[in-house]
Amino acid sequence: MKRDYYEVLGIEKSATQDDIKKAYRKAAIQFHPDKNPGDKDAEEKFKEAAEAYDVLSNAEKKARYDQFGHAANAQSASGGGGYGGGYGGFEGFGGGFTMDDIFDRFGDIFGGHFGGGGGSRARRQRVNRGSDLRVKVRLTLAEVVNGATKKLKINKMNACDACGGSGAFDKDSYTTCSTCHGAGYVTQVVNTMFGQAQTQSVCPTCEGVGKIITKKCEKCSGSGVTKGEEVVEVRIPAGVAQGMQLSVAGKGNAAYHGGVNGDLLVLIEEEPHKELEREGNDLIYNLKLNIADAVMGASVEVPTVDGRAKIKIDPGTQAGRVLRLRGKGVPDVNGYGTGDILVVADVFIPTHVSPAEKDALKKLQTSENFKPKPTKERNLFERMKSYFIS
Ligand SMILES: [Zn+2]
Ligand SMILES: [Zn+2]
Repeated sequence: MKRDYYEVLGIEKSATQDDIKKAYRKAAIQFHPDKNPGDKDAEEKFKEAAEAYDVLSNAEKKARYDQFGHAANAQSASGGGGYGGGYGGFEGFGGGFTMDDIFDRFGDIFGGHFGGGGGSRARRQRVNRGSDLRVKVRLTLAEVVNGATKKLKINKMNACDACGGSGAFDKDSYTTCSTCHGAGYVTQVVNTMFGQAQTQSVCPTCEGVGKIITKKCEKCSGSGVTKGEEVVEVRIPAGVAQGMQLSVAGKGNAAYHGGVNGDLLVLIEEEPHKELEREGNDLIYNLKLNIADAVMGASVEVPTVDGRAKIKIDPGTQAGRVLRLRGKGVPDVNGYGTGDILVVADVFIPTHVSPAEKDALKKLQTSENFKPKPTKERNLFERMKSYFIS
């Protein structure tokens, strides 16, 4: 079971961004590899905290997590066997979010505590990240209810296979950057109102790589990426809804000059069903009854997601009565049960009648039994309110 992100960081759901940052910093320092050398358990905790922070510190990801929990994240089926692996779980960041990636993304949070003189150079260097790609996927109601695996053809930037993404002709096509002398960052002395202060920033000449390419790869002209396409298999969990976004980590664009791939963001669009209308996890069907069936009772067919079902209409069924087909609706995306199909009865009134029908109706018109009387049935509006406002 994947732990709740708020639990991982030991904070309440109401925590502010500042609280989240403080909690992550505390956890990151506690489980920092420099403090726990060779401790696999600490390393896992360190990664778990980084993952939680990655989601909770990002307004968009946090909102999705708050709404859908871990289910909000699909995982590439080819990447690791099924979804549920997590919110970009570390597999989520592209089949291996390494310790260096964590330092790259969240290194700032350690401030002066770590990564100083003793830190490895790799940790101080910036890792490029490719841009995210967005695609829309349109699902039928049956696909929403049953879950689906979609093969999406994506046009994207891939790492150049000739140079492995480095952009260099070969391993000797480099020279050490003369601006930063290979460090990848530069130290500047700036004047502030409190006196002089030192700041470190990414080297503008080599963009943090520490070396300069002297001979470029011929295939990608030194960019490290080439245009290509990839078929990505995406597992879409049952119960997703219009507007929900799933992320498939590491399936976005490759980074220029090597680095971490961006993510593929899959936006869900629902194809409207001809007869069933979705309302949360319930499905509404408006059943028009023949007036004689409403009076005398009948067995009628209603649509379901995968076919049709027969239901019994009791004699004297009033317009507005709601019949519930339990569990025939949409499964909750987080696994909290399944919605129902609500069949809302209505009576069909023909607009034209034949002379014979008119004669029959005239008889009913004068029948004492057909005179309207108050019924126990609440009206349609009241009924719908009681179903949806609860
Ligand atoms: Zn190349
Ligand atoms: Zn440099």
